[in-house]
Order: sequence, then structure tokens, then C-alpha cells
Amino acid sequence: MNKNEKARLYKKDDLLTVEITDIGNDGEGIGKIDGYTLFIKDAVIGDKVKAKIMKAKKNYAYAHLEEVITPSKDRVKPRCPIARQCGGCQIQNMSYESQLKFKQNKVRNNIIRLGGFDEAFVDSIMEPIIGMDDPFAYRNKAQFPVGKDKNGKIVTGFYAGHSHNIIPNTDCMIGASDNKAILETIISHMEKYHIEPYDEVSGKGLVRHILIRKGFVSKELMVCLVINYNKKSKNDIYIKNQDELISRLSAIDGMTSISVSINTEKTNVIMGTEIITLWGSDTIKDTLCGLQFNISPLSFYQVNPIQTEKLYGQAIEYAQLSGNETVWDLYCGIGTITLSMSKKAGKVYGIEIIPQAIDDANENAIRNNITNAKFYVGKAEEVLPDLYEKEGIYADVICIDPPRKGCDIAALETMLKMAPKRIVYVSCDSATLARDLRILCDGGYKLEHIRPCDMFPMSVHVETVCLLSKLHEAKHHINIKVDMDELNLTSAEAKATYKEIEE
Ligand code: SAH
Repeated sequence: MNKNEKARLYKKDDLLTVEITDIGNDGEGIGKIDGYTLFIKDAVIGDKVKAKIMKAKKNYAYAHLEEVITPSKDRVKPRCPIARQCGGCQIQNMSYESQLKFKQNKVRNNIIRLGGFDEAFVDSIMEPIIGMDDPFAYRNKAQFPVGKDKNGKIVTGFYAGHSHNIIPNTDCMIGASDNKAILETIISHMEKYHIEPYDEVSGKGLVRHILIRKGFVSKELMVCLVINYNKKSKNDIYIKNQDELISRLSAIDGMTSISVSINTEKTNVIMGTEIITLWGSDTIKDTLCGLQFNISPLSFYQVNPIQTEKLYGQAIEYAQLSGNETVWDLYCGIGTITLSMSKKAGKVYGIEIIPQAIDDANENAIRNNITNAKFYVGKAEEVLPDLYEKEGIYADVICIDPPRKGCDIAALETMLKMAPKRIVYVSCDSATLARDLRILCDGGYKLEHIRPCDMFPMSVHVETVCLLSKLHEAKHHINIKVDMDELNLTSAEAKATYKEIEE
């Protein structure tokens, strides 16, 4: 009997016993029977399980974990009672140590397979993942969808994996303990005044999401209700008996900012672009790497402040700044990396697409008495090439921290033209990181270090920071005629290089 004939033996609803020997990128357990592969969510490497086939393909099937026959040594009882249903945590049933091992391997494998780097080379430059001492209650931000359960009761929680079914929860174990009181206050207000949650199908109802942020150092709290509100309010009333809700929320210890965000679109995008502050200040403060930051509801701010300090620390170490360098920080958000590097550099520049984040970044520079930072609003792939063409901007070090889709090719190409000595790449998706590293290495850079950092314990996500260094002097500099003053070069080394060229 050949492989195909064997494969046809398996069909939907078959119950199989299998040993889990591998783990997929989404944390699913992988087991094989005679070369036929089973993907089993919630199964852990080393488990022997009974699984039921849900969808059978020719060479593989997706199966449901029915029973753990012999548990793996890496299997633990999840601390959260709804960990299995909730889409937020995918691997809470794995010991933290084995989670870290999984993430280290995930980054390694993506860089080898998708980036086309040699296995032995990657092993020689890869540093051990930076883990957490206490991998719970680490998130400073949560966005809870609001809806109704089967009995019509208003609930908040998180979506189940790959769906928009809300798994009710007000007290997420990886989030701040303050979330519970805030959510319960809002739910009880909605119940009391019959305020409807938003219904995705009909597009009716008011409250869509509740965003909560906490400054872990400042202890300041922000709550923003995302509402489907389409009447222009004459007297700033967006929610029935709004004053009562505000008075109850503002009584919560640490409450600093209460706002609404208007989102009337039929979309998966959570936040609307308009934010109206109902009470308190527009932003909350927090301290990171010894600097104070102002954070608006719309600004990106790393969700795990403890790990962020370690990640930025590693990025700064890789940047090897001596005090004179010109640094560009692309995808800079509210300027956290930019400003953290400013004290050790000559001049720092940031580019970010969200205008409010750049407003925050400018304010953050002032707040921290930083005078050598400048920020630009716009897409990195447009602003950087434009500045390079028009002003011939220069960098000793470029730091990039793009969203999951990675860097746009136009940004990468301009970076290669700018030919900085070092590129520090911070990434939240090792697949797009691998692709971009390949482009940068083909363009004349050498990958020096790779270091994963666990910013999201209990989930399958992993952050990585890499150092690339320029292999040889880039030739195109020689043909560029530069006006030194116009360039605003602060780097002594840059000036010396250009002097050499002119001579
Ligand atoms: N370095 C920051 C932010 C990293 S997250 C920090 O650590 O806090 C990625 C940031 O890129 C977000 O702030 C997002 O708004 C921004 N962004 C997304 N696409 C962009 C683009 N095309 N150009 C510039 N910034 C972009």
C-alpha cells in the first residue's frame, strides 16, 4: 500500500491516537501516523493524545484534541480557566521554559527557511531568547470587544481563535488587574440604561470595544469606549447618562483619561480616527528606560513594559553609539526608541505614519529635555526616499521597528542607498523579518546577531532584534554632491567621509 492509499484511509470523524513530535508556528501540536500529518490545536510536544479528524486532506488533517492520554513533561495546567477557548493565549498549557524554546526555534527556523540563511551560520550568531521572570499580568493595554451572550446578557471578553465569538472575561490573567473594575462599571451602566452593544451583522448598537491602558510606572489609567455614534453631538453627550458613567469610572484609583472613539465603519479595525476626551487628560504618562512618555489612545506603545526595556536595551547595545552618530528610527511610534537612543547619539530622527503619535513624540522630546531629536509624519517608504533624494540625508545607524508586514521595499532600498554602518532591526514577525534580512544582506550587509525577546508570554508571538553591519563602503556615495550645511550632519565620521570624497 503506497502513501496515497494510506492517506485515503483517514476521513472526517476518525479517532486516532498519536504522539506529538513537533509544534507549528501557531502553537499547534503536530503528530504523524505513517507519514500522514495531523495538526492538533492545544496538543503539546511530547503528549500522547486521542484526536478526532475535523478536516482530512490528502497528506494531512486538522484534528480536535479529544483526550490527553499521556501528558508531555512540558504540559502544565493553564492558570486561566478559559485559556483553551480564548484566542488571546495559544500556549498557556506549555511550561514557560518550553514556550521560550518554541519561540527561539520559531525565529531560527523562519530565518533559515524563509530568509535562506545557512543553518550553522544562524546557530553561530543567534543569542538566547530574553524571557520574563513572571510571565503573567504583563500587558499594559487591552481592547475588549463588547457584545451579548446567548441569553442576551452584555459581555466583554476576547474573541475565540479565528472567530468573532466573544469568550466572556473581565479579568484576563496576562492583563492588568484594574481592567475588571472598569469593565464591570461599563457593563452595569449599559445594563441599567439599556445601552446596546454594537452588533457586527446589523451594524446597530452603540458600544463596540473598550480600550484600557495603564502606565505601569505612573499607575495612570486610560479608558476609551469605541462607539458606533453617528449623530453630531451638540452638547458632547455620546452615551446615555454619561455623567453618571464618568463619575463612576473616574472614582477608580488611577483613572486619568476617559474618552470615546467614534467608529461607524463596518470594519475589523477597532479604533476610529476621532477621539473625544470626556474627562481628565487626553493622554496618560508612563516611564520607560528612564524617560517619561505621553501616550494617546491611538498611539502605538509596546504592551509589555518590562520586556520593552530589555528589548530597547539590546537594540541600543547593538547600535553601538559613542555620542556622535546620526541615527534614523523608522516606524518610531511615540519616539520611544528614538528618544532612548538620543542621549548616546549626535542627532536622532524618527519617522512614523500616525500624526498623533508624532505629536506625542515631539511632546515627549520636550518633556525629557531632548533637543537633538526631530520627527517626521508619513510613511517610511515615502518620507525616507523623499528626504534622501531632496536633502541627501545621512545615517550612521538606522533602527527599524515595522509592523507585522515588515518593511516596504522602497524603504529598504533607500536604507541600502544611505548605507549606514549598522542597521538594528526590531521585528514582531520573524517571517517578514527573514525576508527583509535577505534583502539587506543581498544589498551589502552582514547579519551579526539575532536575539529573540519574549514580549508576549502565553501567546505564539515573539519579538526579535537583529544587528546588521555594512560589509564594505557603498559606492554610490562617491557620486553624490553634497552641501554639508544643508545636510545638517552632526556625525564627525560622516563629515570625514564626505571630506575624503570631495578631496
Ligand atoms: N518603535 C515604536 C513603534 C513600533 S510599532 C515602539 O517601539 O514603540 C510600528 C509603528 O509603525 C507603529 O507606530 C505604526 O503606526 C507605524 N507604522 C505602520 N506603518 C508605517 C509606515 N508605512 N511608515 C511609518 N510608520 C508606520
